[in-house]
Amino acid sequence: MDNTVRKVYADNAATTAVSDEVLQAMLPFFKEVYGNPSSLYELGQQAKAPLEEARAATAACLGAKPNEIYFTSCGSESDNWAIKGAARAQRRKHGKPHIITSAFEHHAVLHTCQALEREGFTVTYLPVHKDGLVRVEELEAAITENTALVTIMYANNEIGTIQPIPEIGQVCKAHGVLFHTDAVQAIGNVHIDVKAQNIDMLSLSGHKIHAPKGVGALYIRSGVAVDNFMDGGAQERGRRAGTENVAEIVGLATAIQRATDTIDQRVARLTPMRDRLIDGVLKIERSRLNGSREHRLPGNVSFCFQGVEGESLLLMLDMKGISASSGSACTSGSLDPSHVLLSIGLPHEVAHGSLRLSFGDYNTEEDVDYILGVLPQIIDRLRNMSPLWDAIKTGSVNYDPYM
Ligand SMILES: *Cc1c(COP(=O)(O)O)cnc(C)c1O
Repeated sequence: MDNTVRKVYADNAATTAVSDEVLQAMLPFFKEVYGNPSSLYELGQQAKAPLEEARAATAACLGAKPNEIYFTSCGSESDNWAIKGAARAQRRKHGKPHIITSAFEHHAVLHTCQALEREGFTVTYLPVHKDGLVRVEELEAAITENTALVTIMYANNEIGTIQPIPEIGQVCKAHGVLFHTDAVQAIGNVHIDVKAQNIDMLSLSGHKIHAPKGVGALYIRSGVAVDNFMDGGAQERGRRAGTENVAEIVGLATAIQRATDTIDQRVARLTPMRDRLIDGVLKIERSRLNGSREHRLPGNVSFCFQGVEGESLLLMLDMKGISASSGSACTSGSLDPSHVLLSIGLPHEVAHGSLRLSFGDYNTEEDVDYILGVLPQIIDRLRNMSPLWDAIKTGSVNYDPYM
């Protein structure tokens, strides 16, 4: 009997491993080329050139110009900067205090919007439908003459649904409203062209695409008024001070080039794996897929299982070598059900039994086989221990008519 536990990392939406290619690209900048890019002597200029090449490469991946790319410390910083910076500038210049977002954004967006409410902004939180999508008509109807900014994520980190971003960009442009999108999960999975899709600002993060944690970027279309993020030196054209994290910026640029050059291959490889996983898991009784099956990231699936508690499910999967998540990494540790699952209309009791499996470039068909082999038994065991399962099975407790 083989007792070695297989390891399956199925939490690529939480973070990814740094790729060898990214690591190799970064290494020279820790010890040999350690100069400050702002220094005029050769060692400094040796760091400056790769920094600007990284900017140009990142821009090219998005259809942007190099001077529209600002490097930041993470996706959360990019979201904070875009939303606070644009909202405050719009209110000051044009007296517009209204922001539109969706109910299921990442906390980096939601909590930023809530902070702006405390500064006197009004925020509309668009409903998200059962399919995990906002409706463009509802967005358009929410726009008023006071609307400064719309911020809608490209793809959701918990349930993987992809929003109609080009259509949203079109509506925002037609109404003269700025449009920001958090594209952290979308990079490498969807073809993005900020000009063609009328995106004014876009956030991305390195560690979701095989670059290290602690580096991100923000695209700001030239001409869009956004307050500076950090005062200090003249780095990032005076708008985001702080000596540049050259190594990680080079790593980010390497990763985003690889991610965007291989979108079609990634989609072609992961989509059938994802669909096989969905079909296999949905054979488990009283299970559901969260969000549209069609408008979904190629590597993301999210399920709920009635009569199962998400945290116990994760622990049992972990004992089988499977790293997965229930809700988002940011909400785990608290017992509150995920705001994302509640936003698509799930009752608390159902939202508690959620499981997100997210695949990336290092996952294989064997990972799918392994998950499909162990998951049904684990669900069975947990249900047999649950005081509620009998009542759910006999129908005397019914949380969700769709399961
Ligand atoms: C991970 C993530 C973020 C935050 O990025 P960090 O680099 O971890 O700050 C923001 N938005 C989405 C959709 C994410 O998945």
